[in-house]
Amino acid sequence: MEQLEPMPQQWTRALAIAAHPDDLEYGVAGAVAAWTAAGKDVRYLLVTRGEAGIDTLPPHECGGLREAEQRAAAAAVGVAQVEFLDHHDGVIEYGLDLRRDLAAAIRRHTPQLVVTTNLHDSWPGDGWNSPDHRHVGRAVLDAVADAGNRWIFPELLGLGLQPWAGVAYVAVGGSPRPTHAVDVTDSLDRAVASLSAHRTYLQALGQNPMASPREFLQWQADLVAPSFGGRRATAFELYRT
Ligand SMILES: [Zn+2]
Repeated sequence: MEQLEPMPQQWTRALAIAAHPDDLEYGVAGAVAAWTAAGKDVRYLLVTRGEAGIDTLPPHECGGLREAEQRAAAAAVGVAQVEFLDHHDGVIEYGLDLRRDLAAAIRRHTPQLVVTTNLHDSWPGDGWNSPDHRHVGRAVLDAVADAGNRWIFPELLGLGLQPWAGVAYVAVGGSPRPTHAVDVTDSLDRAVASLSAHRTYLQALGQNPMASPREFLQWQADLVAPSFGGRRATAFELYRT
């Protein structure tokens, strides 16, 4: 079987950007736990608070609760900085507002690695991806270029945000076209703790098999193993910028 390459190690700071609380915990967090254990600085940016994610909870009650669960999930894998943008769950629009907000965050955090989630139409296995994920993932790749150009969104200069062209890689988790992987053998327990921190959300999923964090994350890491020397791993599609 064709083998995935190990992720590049020549970076010190990563910004992981996702549409919703829980997106990073369905796979990416295992790699994040491995990175923070190795001394890397990883920060999270959530585009929404996932306020439309629980059918039985109205958004004004749900948003704050999911924000708190996301902060706990981040802490479980060594991430202390978690920021939220005020876009609306379920109706994130691809456009200049999103690109500007993401470019501003990239300039603020000055990462060498940006991580995001699947931006393709489908998931591995062909399930249809959600518009929020597609829009955020594509806007992240575009905003990496925007962040480095002083003449795109010049209003950011007025906020003291100088251009940052130091992003070397964008790694896309959950992609149907993976190219690289990170060994999660030693970080799987922390990844499980991280996903389990979304307690209210997982309870709302009920009997859905996605609701068992350990089973799901082991199954996912085992799927990647044959393509990564038999090691349990998280796969990424890597873009060099
Ligand atoms: Zn999501």
